[in-house]
Amino acid sequence: MELLKNRILAEGRALSEQVLLVDSFLNHQVDVKLMKACGEEFARRFADAGITRVVTIEASGITPAAMTALTMDLPMVIMKKQVSSILKDGIIQTEVFSFTKNAPYLLTLKTDFIQPGDRVLLIDDFLANGEAAFGAIRLLEQAGARVAGIGAVIAKAFQPGIEKLRAAGYRVEALAPVSRMAEGVIEFL
Ligand code: 5GP
Repeated sequence: MELLKNRILAEGRALSEQVLLVDSFLNHQVDVKLMKACGEEFARRFADAGITRVVTIEASGITPAAMTALTMDLPMVIMKKQVSSILKDGIIQTEVFSFTKNAPYLLTLKTDFIQPGDRVLLIDDFLANGEAAFGAIRLLEQAGARVAGIGAVIAKAFQPGIEKLRAAGYRVEALAPVSRMAEGVIEFL
């Protein structure tokens, strides 16, 4: 997706060989028009996948997931990272190791919002080691859904997540697959 790649080249900053900062349009300030284009692209790529529900993980996955759900005219569910005192009943949880916080958290899903037999499109902002995606898959499969697609706005293809997910049989689409980063350098596959 050239529009997105050009924006990453213009405004993204490789903080190291491992971490990309894109907080001017994805992770802090959000360019909703660009996210709308991302949602339309995910909808196009997964049009044949029989998707019944879009699922994401708070917080930065929400905008691209919402735009995808809007384009596909499907319901959207946000998995929680923070445990809330009002979210107690009917929840399932799994531990996920956070790439950015370098610490574990409990990913939480209320099973009421997933129907057994759902074909889920899982959307997130970044794919790195695949910890978040595999955690979301564990909860969705426990709830009786099938993960029919995984969409990452940015996938760092030199980290293991994308290949691990594909090796496990999941269909993964990355709108901007990054092949290498170094100081002042961002390259795409
Ligand atoms: P994974 O679980 O695949 O290792 O990492 C995915 C999650 O970590 C994403 O939801 C995203 O929030 C965060 N993440 C991973 N790599 C990066 C990165 O390079 N930059 C930013 N801003 N977030 C990242």
